[in-house]
Amino acid sequence: MTVPQPPPARNQPSGDRRTQHRPVLVSACLLGRECRYDGRHNRDSALERELDEQGLRAVPFCPEEHGGLGTPRPAAWIEARSAEHVLAGEARVVTDDGRDVTAEFVRGAEGALETCKTHAIRLALLKERSPSCGVAQTHVAGVAVDGPGVTAALLARHGIEVRGVPGRRA
Ligand code: SF4
Repeated sequence: MTVPQPPPARNQPSGDRRTQHRPVLVSACLLGRECRYDGRHNRDSALERELDEQGLRAVPFCPEEHGGLGTPRPAAWIEARSAEHVLAGEARVVTDDGRDVTAEFVRGAEGALETCKTHAIRLALLKERSPSCGVAQTHVAGVAVDGPGVTAALLARHGIEVRGVPGRRA
C-alpha cells in the first residue's frame, strides 16, 4: 500500500511547508504496540517505512484500550447489523463470552475522533477487519463482512479519510 498524502488540514494552504510533517492517525497495533485482543501486535514495517519516507507523523491510537478494555481481552464483534447502527444506539458490540462492550467501543471511537481534532488529523490508517478499526471489512456475529468498524465509521462520518491496512508486512 502506498500511503496517500493526507488532505490539508482546514485553514491550512496546501503548499504550506508544514504539510511535510502532517500527522496521521494510525492503529497502534500496526506500529508494534501489543494492544490486540490476544496481547499481540500487527506491526507493518512497510507502512512505517512509507510514513517515514513521506515525512508523515504517525499518531498511534488503540480505540479499544482507550475505551477501557484491557489487553488481553475477549474477542468482540458487532452483534448484528452494522457499525452505523451501533453509533445510532440500535445495535450492540458483544464479546465471544456474551458481555456487552458497546459503551467501551463507542468511547474508543469518540476518543479517536477527539485525537484527530486535537492534532488536526485528516487521514486515518486503520487495521482492516477489526470491529473498531476495520474500514472495508469488520466482524459481525463472529464473521468478516463488508463494512467499517465502529471507529472507522465515526471518523468517516466526520469527514476524516479512512484507509484500511492489512498489517504484518515485512
Ligand atoms: S485494530 Fe484497532 S482496536 Fe484492535 S488492537 Fe489494533 S488499534 Fe486496537
